[in-house]
Amino acid sequence: MNVASVIVDVPAKQTDKPFDYLIPEHLIEIIKPGMRVIVPFGPRKIQGFVVGIKAESDFKSLKELIEPMDLNPILNKELLSLGDWLSNHTLSYKISAYQAMLPAALKAKYEKKLKRIDAIEELDPSIKLLFSDSDSITWEEAIAHVSIRTLQRAVSESSIELIYEVKERVKKKKLKAIYCPDRAQLENWKKSLPANAAKQKEVLSYFLKQEGPVFQKEVEDILEVSSAVIKGLVKKEMLSETYLEVYRDPFAERQFSSTVPLSLTEEQHNAIIPIWNSVEQHEHEVFLLYGVTGSGKTEVYLQSIQRVLEQGREAIVLVPEISLTPQMVTRFKGRFGDKVAVLHSGLSAGEKYDEWRKIQRKEVSVAVGARSAIFAPFENLGIIIIDEEHETSYKQEENPRYHARDVAIERAKTYRCPVVLGSATPALETFARAQKDVYKLLKLPKRMNNQALPAVTIIDMREELREGNRSMFSRVLLDQLKERIEKKEQTVLFLNKRGHSSFVMCRDCGYVINCPNCDISLTYHQYSRQMKCHYCGHEDHVPSVCPECQSEHIRYFGTGTQKVEEELVKVLPEARVIRMDVDTTSRKGAHEKLLNQFQEGQADILLGTQMIAKGLDFPNITLVGVLSADTMLHLPDFRSSEKTFQLLTQVSGRAGRHQLEGEVIIQTYTPEHYSVELAGTQDYDLFYDKEMMIRKIHKYPPFYYISLITVSHEQLMKAVAVTEKITGWVRAKLSDEAVVLGPVASPIPRINNRYRYQCLVKYKREPQLNGALKTVLDQYQQEIATGGLQISIDVNPYILM
Ligand code: ADP
Ligand code: ZN
Ligand code: ZN
Repeated sequence: MNVASVIVDVPAKQTDKPFDYLIPEHLIEIIKPGMRVIVPFGPRKIQGFVVGIKAESDFKSLKELIEPMDLNPILNKELLSLGDWLSNHTLSYKISAYQAMLPAALKAKYEKKLKRIDAIEELDPSIKLLFSDSDSITWEEAIAHVSIRTLQRAVSESSIELIYEVKERVKKKKLKAIYCPDRAQLENWKKSLPANAAKQKEVLSYFLKQEGPVFQKEVEDILEVSSAVIKGLVKKEMLSETYLEVYRDPFAERQFSSTVPLSLTEEQHNAIIPIWNSVEQHEHEVFLLYGVTGSGKTEVYLQSIQRVLEQGREAIVLVPEISLTPQMVTRFKGRFGDKVAVLHSGLSAGEKYDEWRKIQRKEVSVAVGARSAIFAPFENLGIIIIDEEHETSYKQEENPRYHARDVAIERAKTYRCPVVLGSATPALETFARAQKDVYKLLKLPKRMNNQALPAVTIIDMREELREGNRSMFSRVLLDQLKERIEKKEQTVLFLNKRGHSSFVMCRDCGYVINCPNCDISLTYHQYSRQMKCHYCGHEDHVPSVCPECQSEHIRYFGTGTQKVEEELVKVLPEARVIRMDVDTTSRKGAHEKLLNQFQEGQADILLGTQMIAKGLDFPNITLVGVLSADTMLHLPDFRSSEKTFQLLTQVSGRAGRHQLEGEVIIQTYTPEHYSVELAGTQDYDLFYDKEMMIRKIHKYPPFYYISLITVSHEQLMKAVAVTEKITGWVRAKLSDEAVVLGPVASPIPRINNRYRYQCLVKYKREPQLNGALKTVLDQYQQEIATGGLQISIDVNPYILM
């Protein structure tokens, strides 16, 4: 067995198959499937994944493999074959599929080190010497003295371990911090300040109790002082500035108080029994847990997982990145303690790798994370849970373009375990499958507290305008806001920013500033006061006069959260507002801190974007206001109604989750649109019926599958010609039942100076399609490789632009 089949790290058509390499004598039995190795490839040395070991090759004169990169397989057998499946399903290269399953740290630059675990006396004599000076030693140093075989044995006996120390590409984030250089002087300094410098005195008093440096932002927040106050003190040399690293893991220092299983309600009980059965009988099944917000789905997840752990098996829980909040994490850590690994984007590559390693070393048995956590390297899975399964962030928008739901089902089939999809507003495709009994439908129709869902009022903003109200707040919303402040209850104000954002327009002639490289308007960023293109990154200053008509009335439009906040202060000066958006939450831990402040009642109104739509569960929220419901409705996307309905329902669910009754006010310019109207009555079933009819008429999922081919080239004619050819070719391969639309210009017809054309295929069953699409890629391989042409194929796309 001295031949290794290796998928090399060259993402191209010619290399999308295993290459055979001879395993040199000293590495025989060391090299195993699932390990990464270094191999010669042409004149280069590159890395690759071993996918098999065999005795013979069909090829003569094999080159020798150079060395292993890992001492243990980093992809187990199941993940290796999942990689095959993934590449077939998403039409991506095998190497991309394997890479997608690894934590980022293993793709970044890292240094390999061997670390001692056992006491030095207990080490095998052959490796003892390596660790005489230090607990760890670099890989290069180690293999200069000891054979790889010896190292591998020590690793498999757990007396040493191989770690990958990431050379973090991102520099550690540092922020300005303030300290007092001479605290003995503080009292004197305080007295020396003029009487009217109350704020400065307050700051000095704070440092009387505060020994070490504190982040400036924190001082500002705690004492509610401006940066100018602090700057003044720094100038007087009473305080000094320094830069400190921001603490990286927002969950690291938290204490999780443990929780015990609640006794289930009858509904929860009925819902969980089939899941438990599936777990106990090792049967693969997909459940749709369809329950309104606050109906107790999470408790059902927790107790399902518990059953799985009792069997010595493992669980993966996916939550959308945006709702991977400390609140959410606490619920899992509170129940399962340090058995839980959390994989979220707030972690650095190194930290994520640490969590991943806990899974690989079987130190944990529950992984909670966003999309990519679906590849958690467990080997004995007992359940996979996907919360908010309708969220589009479960689809990866780069190669391999997989949907986590599909991967979950594929893995669960292998392990013969259940998948639980949870949602109050399931994706249409999912609900349709549940209707047809492909998935088993479990319902939690009532809220835990037996509270009725909050009453929803829909406000026609055109009417407001007609009656002379030009503000962004309707009169009803304003009245209600005032009432909450009086009653000391809290409000969530939601601004739906996705889809439309602030753009710069001339009030006189209507000229909108577009990106010079892309056919799309530039977005205005208030914090940098710059305009930026979200597609190519182009940045520019806002011109002082209109380039078209020279008018000075050129300014940004649209309502950013900051603008809303300004307005709010004008009309409700007494309101205490916390704003949550990308600007205020970019600092580590800021998200949690703002939520804590809100929970502790330090503000009346929480104002924010998508990131406040989910997961919030505070008892004192009795009013939810949606400032403009329809911003997403007009996107060129057949799912825009569905997304609008889901989002509005989701946001409304933030109100009245506890004793106090909740109320929701939705402001809109299209109150007659069914997705707004039905979100008002929170009637998913009716929405489902209505939307299904429309999908059927227009031949969209779930009645048809779709695949999108997008072609781009610097020359318009070339993009058109290639798309035309592809469209013709695909059309010829498919049955009459399939609909092939194109070639047409993409909704965003130019990005980064490349023209974009597309072909959309709608089909029911076309066994030929994947083959045909692969052939398309093969045919243009040369032009793609040289970079002139780009062809992207998205099977079941979520973004049609
Ligand atoms: P969902 O996940 O469906 O939004 P949650 O699981 O968050 O709902 O439940 C809503 C609230 O009800 C939570 O505060 C939760 O602690 C509580 N809860 C859930 N199940 C029970 C139960 N069996 N007994 C008492 N309280 C429960
Ligand atoms: Zn103009
Ligand atoms: Zn651009």
